[in-house]
Amino acid sequence: MGADRGAQKDLEVLGADIRLDIIEEAIKTAIQRKRLHIPSGIIHVTDLTQCLRKTYYEVVSGYTKTKIMVAGEVMHSEILPQIAAMLELEGYSAVDEVEVNTVVKTRCMDIDLRGRIDLVVSSIPVEIKFSNRIMDHHILQAEYYAWMLSVSEYIICVIKDDGGVECKKFRRHIPDEELVKRIEILACAVLQHEPPKPEKGVWCNTCSFKHMCAATKKLSDYVF
Ligand code: SF4
Repeated sequence: MGADRGAQKDLEVLGADIRLDIIEEAIKTAIQRKRLHIPSGIIHVTDLTQCLRKTYYEVVSGYTKTKIMVAGEVMHSEILPQIAAMLELEGYSAVDEVEVNTVVKTRCMDIDLRGRIDLVVSSIPVEIKFSNRIMDHHILQAEYYAWMLSVSEYIICVIKDDGGVECKKFRRHIPDEELVKRIEILACAVLQHEPPKPEKGVWCNTCSFKHMCAATKKLSDYVF
């Protein structure tokens, strides 16, 4: 009992030595990001599959990692290798985290477009999302991957809040020019220091740049 009290006292002293503001600052720094690769000519597919105006602001001002981004990181490190291994046992060729890249010429600069596909199963890209339904920006992301792999189909799977999983197969339907156009809009915006037009979507709810933006149109008004 006496020993316990001694241990508790040590903890209190230790606690008194720690400044909470330093812990808070460390957490803030760990979740802060800037899309610094874009000004140097590298664009990731995920930079293109949200509101381009938001991506632009994230280049110039930085952004904070969200819960869904962290969930995505866990999926990449822990879940995808298991899925690929199980599919291999079923006789499919399945590779997780497939890096792809291609050079895209735009009016403003040549872009090194990069992507990391969750799974490629028998040459078909498979994207897996934590979401209750398949959304427009999931489709756009998978379109980019199918385009980069030169295949005409892709699969999107969603992991729902209740644990249910649903996969759907799609045929490519967004013209190549539209995919290139988004790359060009973003590249030129960053080069010319001029934010692109707003693209209203689910991301507006958590967008830290709302106050700088009058969102009027949806992503689908621009792309689909
Ligand atoms: S508020 Fe919406 S439309 Fe405006 S920058 Fe943010 S995500 Fe884009």
